[in-house]
Amino acid sequence: MHELPVVEDLIKTLDRESEEKNITGIKAVNLRIGELSGIMGECVQMYFDVLSRGHSCERAVLNITHVPAMLKCDKCGREFPHEKSFDCPDCGSMGKLVKGSGREFMLESIDV
Ligand SMILES: [Zn+2]
Repeated sequence: MHELPVVEDLIKTLDRESEEKNITGIKAVNLRIGELSGIMGECVQMYFDVLSRGHSCERAVLNITHVPAMLKCDKCGREFPHEKSFDCPDCGSMGKLVKGSGREFMLESIDV
């Protein structure tokens, strides 16, 4: 349930941006959400629909890009995104999670 404060923050940011840049209507909000952030895109969408009413982003479409965590191979040093397996695509050794990766919740851009 930690999507609620995240969406509240997001809307505050969008209101501030709109005011600073004199934007009258935001058409789309582009977000990046890491797979390990614990944030569900569907919940973000749900809260956004409710909370955006009366705000600068009231009619905005939410575009969510899901970002995989990055792994780094212990053996050869290759960094690769976590998809189905933890194994390095080059040498087959098991990769380790790159610290902090996949935990992002980022406002990438807005379309006006
Ligand atoms: Zn490797």
